Amino acid sequence: MKVPLLDINRQHADIKDELIRVFTDALSTSRFIKGPEMDAFEREFAEYSGTADAVACASGTDALILALQATGLKRDELVITVPFTFFSSAGSIVRAGGTPVFIDILPDTFNMDPDILEEWLNTNCAITERGVIHKETARRVAAIMPVHIFGQICNMDAINSTASNWDLPVVEDAAQAAGAKWRQSKAGSTGTVGCFSFFPSKNLGALGDGGMLTTNDLKLAERLRSLREHGGKGYLHSEVGTNSRMDAIQAGFLRVKLRKLEQWHAGRRANAERYAEAFANLPQIKTPVIDPRAWSIYNQYTVLAESRDELLAFLRKRQIGCAVYYPLPLHLQQCFADLGYSKGDFRVSENTSKKVISLPVFGELTGDEQNEVITAIREFYSN
Ligand SMILES: *Cc1c(COP(=O)(O)O)cnc(C)c1O
Repeated sequence: MKVPLLDINRQHADIKDELIRVFTDALSTSRFIKGPEMDAFEREFAEYSGTADAVACASGTDALILALQATGLKRDELVITVPFTFFSSAGSIVRAGGTPVFIDILPDTFNMDPDILEEWLNTNCAITERGVIHKETARRVAAIMPVHIFGQICNMDAINSTASNWDLPVVEDAAQAAGAKWRQSKAGSTGTVGCFSFFPSKNLGALGDGGMLTTNDLKLAERLRSLREHGGKGYLHSEVGTNSRMDAIQAGFLRVKLRKLEQWHAGRRANAERYAEAFANLPQIKTPVIDPRAWSIYNQYTVLAESRDELLAFLRKRQIGCAVYYPLPLHLQQCFADLGYSKGDFRVSENTSKKVISLPVFGELTGDEQNEVITAIREFYSN
């Protein structure tokens, strides 16, 4: 039996008529960009995330760039993030004019290790009247960007405590975590500003690209609204922004899908639970560890597997969808060679990259399909 890693068609079957209505409405009104659909989606997403405001934009990458600019990043300043993440986390720092500084992850949750963050700041930085300064290079540290990887939110108690000691803004890369919670707080409400992606494979996916910024700081929201549209008002520009608006039609699609999101999360969480039970006595597979204070939405179900590459090939031959997120940590990417990092600098990230494999977990996966995945993996290790 062929098992897809993700089949978006199945979730769209349910809401097809509503999606088509969004399209015909957009066609008849000719309001293609922003407009009342986007305004309504911003309000609904802010309410969903438990933030005072939300600002829509064109992608998750744009959300990160806009957030960094709005929280004060200037050319050549430093932004702290992790090497084990999707490229965009660090790529957007560079696109916003900054330089990434990497902090290794925890081996169990794959999220930023707050102790290493604290230690890096204590060892390398000082607070001056210019802000937090990296002593060796005299560059300012502009922000901390934790990444809520695979749908599990970072330890925000620890990260916020460090951020507040150093008076640094926290830009949450919540691209994979719409609806995930730390204690009672949703992703995007636990930092200074939250950045979301509506790339089709995220739990809340558009029928194209889209992004969102959430914040409780209304002044910051206003600046983000200005920056997403060239940083001006009525052809008078106080700063240089960009064109990163949301299409009305995508906002309309996303409004329909937001109403289903909790139901879809529940399906993913149930599938995750089934895998955890099935692999509990299989020592070659280490299932995801979720911090008891976190509530994961399982954008990916990512396990650590012995003989990962062989398992990957075996599953692919069986036509079972699986993928490696992410095969090469960012400090070892060719484009970041000039940052001066080398192999061995972030051992947990490097080791994790060699062992991770993500399995089908989408809510509409059938019991038979999931059994097929489980059986194949058991079979692989029994040989
Ligand atoms: C998807 C993703 C992004 C970028 O979002 P796009 O909408 O594709 O630009 C950024 N960070 C992480 C961790 C992501 O998974």
